[in-house]
Amino acid sequence: MELDHDYSDDFPALSSRPKPMVYLDSAATTLKPNTVVDAVRWFLENGTSSVHRAFHTRSIDATDRFEGTRERLARWFGADTDEIVLTHGTTEAINLVRHGWQGLRRVATTLMEHHSNFVPWMDLERCDVIHVDSTGTLDWEGLEHSLKTGIDLVAVTQMSNVLAAAVDLERLVPLVHRYGARVLIDAAQTASHDPPNVRNLGIDFLACSGHKMLGPSGCGALYVKRELHEELKPMLLGGHMVDHVFPDSWTIQKAPQRYEAGTPPIESVIGWGAAIDYLQQIGTATLKQHLSELSSYLIDRLESVPGVKIVGPSRGQSRGPLASFSVEGLEASAIARILAQRDEVFVRAGFHCAQPLHQTLGLRPSVRASLQIYNTRADIDRFAKILGSVAKLGV
Ligand code: PLP
Repeated sequence: MELDHDYSDDFPALSSRPKPMVYLDSAATTLKPNTVVDAVRWFLENGTSSVHRAFHTRSIDATDRFEGTRERLARWFGADTDEIVLTHGTTEAINLVRHGWQGLRRVATTLMEHHSNFVPWMDLERCDVIHVDSTGTLDWEGLEHSLKTGIDLVAVTQMSNVLAAAVDLERLVPLVHRYGARVLIDAAQTASHDPPNVRNLGIDFLACSGHKMLGPSGCGALYVKRELHEELKPMLLGGHMVDHVFPDSWTIQKAPQRYEAGTPPIESVIGWGAAIDYLQQIGTATLKQHLSELSSYLIDRLESVPGVKIVGPSRGQSRGPLASFSVEGLEASAIARILAQRDEVFVRAGFHCAQPLHQTLGLRPSVRASLQIYNTRADIDRFAKILGSVAKLGV
């Protein structure tokens, strides 16, 4: 069955024919649609101004556009605007919880986290690492055992950026809350097509990055449930986050401004707003269906290449829009290099910032092919064809 629509023409990096490349590295960063390029270009050419501080019309307009992204994000995740803190990315958002939550002592995280949701917790008084098996299934009993012994925060990815396994948030959040702990969701890999509704699910913190949602790099967000605003202190001190400054003391603004010291990445945030409009126009149902169909096709094609071994969920289990795999007799980095050099097929190779997972499960560095709305079956065919010829070198 053919996918309904080819979105690649909306992306300047892919719009010429024949297609200049097959981009299968969207889990690292996504390509940007024309509307995002236009919004950033317009701002740089015609709109440049700082936000929040001045009374002139340029600054008022820039502030409206900037704050418009916060409103879009709030709608995207089912939150209120004052619960959306703009950061420089997922990593900074997670670090804000790590450094801002003064009473935080004991965290549980999982083996399949990206280093950005792993390293920040390691030097706390306690950091329990919940096991996952090679299909990405969480050790739910282990998690409950950990919670019983007194955990303050459970920090979990919504989807592994290596295994493509998703965590059942409808099961996770009530379990964590039953034991009086808080939950942080790392939505870096899912925010573009499967944004969780933080209100309906009861999520306490959620982190994401603009550059993985078709937006520019340098911007991200942390959702902070309103009742936690007093508990979470600012990580950075300086301009904009303060209300009054006296020679010997200062008072701080309300959330979210109290967490946003310094000049923010204004054009990136404005571009991100255009990206959310683009995603919103397609709609999450279509985004999810497009990516789910492409993912199944990717797995089918990979399985047909002799010597390829895919990691993650078994057939029939749900998986996100990426596949990590090894090829018998070949190094992952060599495969990625040959695919790029021979046919402009761009994939990722290595540990994907998830070394604890690889070490514990005994996984070698893998090749990762990841998908976004602009990918097509023809992309996967071109990738599988060149991979088939490369795989023959290993056997
Ligand atoms: N968490 C996950 C699951 C990721 O995949 C990534 C990036 O690859 C991050 C966190 C870090 O995101 P950023 O580098 O945008 O802060």
